[in-house]
Amino acid sequence: MCDITFFVSSLTQTKKMGQRIFTIIGVLCLLINCQPEKIWDVEYEITQVDQDSLQLLKVKMTLPADSCGQTILTYQDRTWGEENLHNTVHYANLLGVKGEVSMDKKTGQVILQYPKNLENIEFEYALKQDFDHPINTSVTYRPIILPEYFHVFSHNLFMLPEVDVPTLDIRLLWKGFDAPQVVHNSFGSNSSIQEIVAIAPEEFHSAIFLGGDFNIQEITIQDNKVFLATRGDWVPFTPEEMKTLLEKTSTVQRDFWNDHSQPYFTVTMQPFEQELGSSCQGTGLTNSFATSFSNNNYIDMEQMVHLFNHELLHNWIGHRIQNDNEELEYWFSEGFTEYYTYKNVAKHKINGLGAAFFISSMNDMIKNLEALSIKEVPNSEVNYNNFWTNPEYQKLPYFRGALYAFYLDYTIQKTSQGKYSLDDFMLELLAAADEGNKFNRELFLEHMTHYLPDADQIGYTRFIENGNPIPFQDFFEAQGLAYENNTILYELGFAFNKDQTEVVRVVSGSAAEKAGVQRGDLVLSRSIWYGNPEKEVQLTLSRNGEEHQILYYPRREAEIAILKNNQENQQQLKL
Ligand SMILES: [Zn+2]
Repeated sequence: MCDITFFVSSLTQTKKMGQRIFTIIGVLCLLINCQPEKIWDVEYEITQVDQDSLQLLKVKMTLPADSCGQTILTYQDRTWGEENLHNTVHYANLLGVKGEVSMDKKTGQVILQYPKNLENIEFEYALKQDFDHPINTSVTYRPIILPEYFHVFSHNLFMLPEVDVPTLDIRLLWKGFDAPQVVHNSFGSNSSIQEIVAIAPEEFHSAIFLGGDFNIQEITIQDNKVFLATRGDWVPFTPEEMKTLLEKTSTVQRDFWNDHSQPYFTVTMQPFEQELGSSCQGTGLTNSFATSFSNNNYIDMEQMVHLFNHELLHNWIGHRIQNDNEELEYWFSEGFTEYYTYKNVAKHKINGLGAAFFISSMNDMIKNLEALSIKEVPNSEVNYNNFWTNPEYQKLPYFRGALYAFYLDYTIQKTSQGKYSLDDFMLELLAAADEGNKFNRELFLEHMTHYLPDADQIGYTRFIENGNPIPFQDFFEAQGLAYENNTILYELGFAFNKDQTEVVRVVSGSAAEKAGVQRGDLVLSRSIWYGNPEKEVQLTLSRNGEEHQILYYPRREAEIAILKNNQENQQQLKL
């Protein structure tokens, strides 16, 4: 290796002596490998080992030592709704020096102490899976380390040095993952050496890492790579169908936002066994979207279409266009994401779903909102506390926001005589967000007035701030859309206590009351299809020591306007 002084002086020389000499020196330099060796803030070497039938992921860290003999690593014990993540560390040792390793659950830190004045330190730890029952949604955020594969989120796999710089240069060395074994993650696919330069620590820690017997499918969209990583056989669909869905969805969305800037993106799908019902989890991460699904016939393509479209849209709504105040602006970040999920799918006939799907989705939104007991609360009540503790508050911003977007989209189209739509507003908003503006009331109104100058027509105060219902009958009439007025809504008709063992409230006049559900009844067993008025509720209740079998349809009739799903309407909506 030539020394750096030589390289710098030769560059100075070239200025005097011309381009030709620079080229010669440049070539010479290359020949003798003139570049100083890159110093990484941290290097990780990862190997999967079978130690007495215990599967471990061994991670060896190499990093510059601190002159005072102490390095602090971030490694949370409690995060993403999980507790005791430190239990997944099988061992942790400093290599080659005498020192001490202590793990602090409370602060989420690992403290390394070693002799002063070392140049580098080597530290090794091994991770294990800390449960032995089959995988279900309760464990998908814990490390899964099995003989066939591993599935670990970055914050759990990599202890990260706490340093006073905004970004880190990180190198990953994967040992022993030879084909057909794969290594696949938020930063690349099947590279045994990964060099990740100038990454913010939180961005690095918000990532998925997997390896083993995954099946990797590659898609190219305008020179950018999109990957789908799955494993095993799927009951309800083939990996090829999922690949087609991902390709179509990504293309349509990138075209919509006129944004083909992301060179690498991956979606991961981890299947797990489940006998009854469906469950899934999805998390948007750095360059990726990680999902876990129950692999059975209760899950269908339409759910997947919805999930992929909704989650991938968050790349722009939610990530690029960021809320100023999380929960208060969920009507936008969740509601508008939901609306564009339906609109994009229908407009581009993803999985064969078209205008009929759009109409039935809007009707479902209207019915679902109407079925909420809190449907008219002001937006200020959609706060952290209510949102994260009450399932009704969790649904409200999706339904209310999506319906508001529907209203705005067609009101803009009508007012501008077809010249503009909500799409133009969204693109304008993205440009404003890229200039450093966060999404809030002021930004929304400032840009919305470019399309609807009349504040009353925008209706923000009424429909969002005050939570008044959008008068859909008037809206449909103004748009020349045919509608009907009587509809069946889902209504369970009673409320449980917290652990769902007792009936604490019965809605008067409800089907549940007519079927004989009474306040104070103890719930011995139940079968409820939440949100579905077509499926009978089955309850076994106990009252004064006597058992009662109860059966009823959880529904009520309501006088609300919904769209007729006919050809005239499908054409009139001009998707
Ligand atoms: Zn969402």
